Amino acid sequence: MSKVLMIGAGGVATVAAFKIVQNADVFTEFMIASRRKAKCDQLVKSIHDKGYNYDIKTAQVDADDVEQLKALFNDFKPELVVNLALPYQDLTIMEACLACGCNYLDTANYEPKDEAHFEYSWQWAYKEKFEQAGLTAILGCGFDPGVSGIYTAYAAKHHFDEIQYLDIVDCNAGNHHKAFATNFNPEINIREITQKGLYYEDGKWIETEPLAVHKTLTYPNIGGRESYLMHHEELESLVKNYPTIKRGRFWMTFGQQYLTYLDCIENLGMSRIDEIEYEAPLADKPEQKVKVKIVPLQFLKAVLPNPQDLGENYDGETSIGCRIRGLKDGKEHTYYIYNNCKHQEAYNETGMQGVSYTTGVPAMIGTMMFCKGLWRKPGVWNVEEFDPDPFMEQLNKQGLPWHEVFDGDLEL
Ligand code: NDP
Repeated sequence: MSKVLMIGAGGVATVAAFKIVQNADVFTEFMIASRRKAKCDQLVKSIHDKGYNYDIKTAQVDADDVEQLKALFNDFKPELVVNLALPYQDLTIMEACLACGCNYLDTANYEPKDEAHFEYSWQWAYKEKFEQAGLTAILGCGFDPGVSGIYTAYAAKHHFDEIQYLDIVDCNAGNHHKAFATNFNPEINIREITQKGLYYEDGKWIETEPLAVHKTLTYPNIGGRESYLMHHEELESLVKNYPTIKRGRFWMTFGQQYLTYLDCIENLGMSRIDEIEYEAPLADKPEQKVKVKIVPLQFLKAVLPNPQDLGENYDGETSIGCRIRGLKDGKEHTYYIYNNCKHQEAYNETGMQGVSYTTGVPAMIGTMMFCKGLWRKPGVWNVEEFDPDPFMEQLNKQGLPWHEVFDGDLEL
């Protein structure tokens, strides 16, 4: 028996829900809870409309509120809580899991709302509490973070004695035919991209100006794309768990149009995350004006396309992988492992585009690893700290097959 509660009903959660239902032999009871119950019910309807006959419970919960979470967990009694809400809710959900004896999985590390800053220290601080409670917490189980760490663990287990150079490369060569849109939650996405770059070299972290370092990299089946060095959370755990790494970097592609819009958004002050005061008429009494506090980036999110609606006209594909250089039997080797995912295939299966798909599928596989007893150990862990082999086997079965290139030119 495995009883799973998923929090969130957005793009990533939709894909994870489809995949959970497709693996009904593993997941016997399933509930979706989110800020708005109607959104959960709509998701269940879209699953049933695709012909899956699976009983899914739904509930309303504000995941910022530990007491509400505890009441829900004590009522449904899930074995595992899958957090596919936003990074802001990681700590409240972990707190409630501890209080109610539930295990935990997420896809993005904690970020305080008032500071665009992410690092694992907040969640790693729960390690002892989860250990003492005999509970497992699996952190960062999407694609990147997630599969990027599992690829690295697989490379370390099977192909290298010593990993020395690691470059995670993330290309979205898709086109959604909108002037500007983000592929996952716009608020989280813009906060991440406008941060300073950061990479690891010879035991030190080196900061760069936002998107200042870039070069053209060649992606399989896609070709050359300008790729920008960014800070990405999995580097923090990977350089800790693989101390032989001399340099660890993360690269992501952006089109020129996206960058031009992003520049305008920043220059107009619309990426601000502090509150501004604004006087506006009341929605139901327009003659009455009130002063409200608005966070410009949250307002921008409200007017941008919803990433969940991008799928229908999205063509092209993503290509995400790890380019690794290191030693095996005293000789230097290179290794490139990657997945390409077509947006239209993701849409046909789940109604969501490829970025939600490449995140939701690994979230389900991590959930499966836990439920099958393959990834269970008390404490708080990043994905590379578990056995990568059963996860890698499922990637091939669940729609994200991987490919390897041995001793090729890494370009990096
Ligand atoms: P969405 O904004 O589409 O979905 C978030 C969901 O969480 C929405 O249903 C939202 O409710 C719900 N939610 C937000 N706040 C609360 C709250 N306080 N209580 C309950 N529910 C809440 O985001 P995505 O699906 O695009 O992304 C989900 C997560 O996946 C994010 O944390 C993101 O950072 C992560 N991610 C990870 C990636 C990886 O590779 N590791 C890649 C892409 C994303 P409502 O619908 O009412 O707004």
